[in-house]
Amino acid sequence: MAVILDGKALAKSTEQALSGRVNRFKSKSGRVPRLATILVGDDPASATYVKMKGNACARVGMLSLRIEMGQGTTTKQLLDKINELNDDPLTDGILLQHPVPSQVDERAAFEAVSLEKDVDGVTCLGFGRMSMGRAAYGSATPAGIMRLLDHYNIRPDGKHAVVIGRSPILGKPMAMMLLNRNATVTVCHSKTRDLADFVRSADIVVAAAGKPQLVKGEWIKEGAVVVDAGYHPGNVGDVELTSASLKASAYTPVPGGVGPMTISTLIQQTMDAAEKSIIN
Ligand code: NAP
Repeated sequence: MAVILDGKALAKSTEQALSGRVNRFKSKSGRVPRLATILVGDDPASATYVKMKGNACARVGMLSLRIEMGQGTTTKQLLDKINELNDDPLTDGILLQHPVPSQVDERAAFEAVSLEKDVDGVTCLGFGRMSMGRAAYGSATPAGIMRLLDHYNIRPDGKHAVVIGRSPILGKPMAMMLLNRNATVTVCHSKTRDLADFVRSADIVVAAAGKPQLVKGEWIKEGAVVVDAGYHPGNVGDVELTSASLKASAYTPVPGGVGPMTISTLIQQTMDAAEKSIIN
């Protein structure tokens, strides 16, 4: 019987620990840790994600500063706002919700976030430092996946990990994190030939392609660990989970697997940033 990698439960216990850290921080610093969330445009899914992140802050007693900018926002306006937050001593972390409207240079906006406040791990500098094993906040979704694997004592060392997807926020940092933990990593993408063959040899599969049920249950090797980062209407991920769960030794459910870990990691890293701000 496969182990269910319960991200929801781990996120909940992390929140209990974070509440204690928030209280200790308050008594030491006289202020409350704060995450600034920036939502640009009117994408309803993005609005929901930002709301969920604000709710998570509230559950642990952190503040969230919700900034909403219109659909017609320019790159300059967004950069100005980010710079203002970089300079604000009461803001510990900055989350720019992806995606932004097409006229905005999203990469330039991500790069504007200062390293100390890049709690969602979106800057090239943060990615480079993480890749080289230096201190940096990891991109929230892959860092959350690593926390989940650690919690269940799943060690990547020596395993063949197949990451499906190479986006800057998910596939690429995921591959580097697994490589840093001594997995042998294959990164697949939309031009990969014979995806099924790669998956068949994987001890760990991370599906992050954004394609409903792209990964078939029959491709999964007996005993493999299956991490499904996808989320699509109807509670469907990027893996055919019903059939995959019959072969896997462990798998993340959809929902309740990777999603809660992303938010949990974001607020945990905001807490880390707040604590660092009073040490320095
Ligand atoms: P993305 O930017 O659209 O990237 C998708 C990646 O998948 C690309 O690298 C693409 O390859 C690859 N791909 C697309 N079709 C493929 C195929 N048929 N075979 C192999 N690779 C394929 O997406 P993302 O932002 O990384 O997100 C990926 C998924 O994770 C989405 O379902 C998203 O909703 C989910 N997600 C979940 C969370 C969470 O908290 N649970 C957070 C973020 C994202 P190319 O590079 O060649 O185009």
